[in-house]
Amino acid sequence: MIRIRGLSHSYAGRKTLSNLDLDIAPGEFVYLQGPSGSGKSTLLRILNRQIDRFDGDISIDGQPLKRMARHEVRRKVATIHQSYELIERKTVLENVSLAGEVQGKPPATVRTESRACLSKVGLAGKEEMFPQQLSGGEQQRVAIARALLNGPAVLLADEPTGNLDPDNAERILQLLRDLNESEGTTILMVTHSSELVRSFPARTLFMKGGCLHAHEPDTGTLLHS
Ligand code: ADP
Ligand code: MG
Repeated sequence: MIRIRGLSHSYAGRKTLSNLDLDIAPGEFVYLQGPSGSGKSTLLRILNRQIDRFDGDISIDGQPLKRMARHEVRRKVATIHQSYELIERKTVLENVSLAGEVQGKPPATVRTESRACLSKVGLAGKEEMFPQQLSGGEQQRVAIARALLNGPAVLLADEPTGNLDPDNAERILQLLRDLNESEGTTILMVTHSSELVRSFPARTLFMKGGCLHAHEPDTGTLLHS
């Protein structure tokens, strides 16, 4: 589903990603861990085309990312963030619907699909509420419903539980794992929480200094000295 070859990126001459290769199969659930500043968010922003300039080759679902139109990328690759990024002055239903309106679907269809997505994430009955009337966990559910609206092939989650207490964090992760199973959505999730990873084990990648590792990189401890 995601194929990356020789991906490099820099900000103002400073290298942020160094020659990454990565394959993620359709329907896979993958964690991405690594210290702050190691390049995790940059990788996600390249995959959803928030960042356009990079060296190397990326294809999503067999299509070269560089040749996909922006609206096509937005439909195929959805993103959720630590901070939910909801519009405070719009209702829950309006927040979710926006994702369909920008794709040019008829408003009535968008409303029906938005309600269905809200129900999928356990928020039926909260359609007319405003984000600030909801708990953090519920706001993240709204963001997930919005992300699901266009039936994305890939869901990128950048520390989606970073602002939640452990119980709510676990519930959100459970929801993502359920969606991965039931919808077959490929999910790449950044998390700092090794505890969460342990409670829902899956393939885990580690980023360090702009390089990807399949295992936790050596922390510097000399085992054989
Ligand atoms: P992570 O998500 O792993 O914490 P980021 O991908 O956000 O790391 O950042 C990787 C590196 O790129 C860091 O050194 C960071 O300071 C730098 N960086 C991130 N965003 C920008 C930006 N907009 N302009 C310049 N440098 C940036
Ligand atoms: Mg980050």
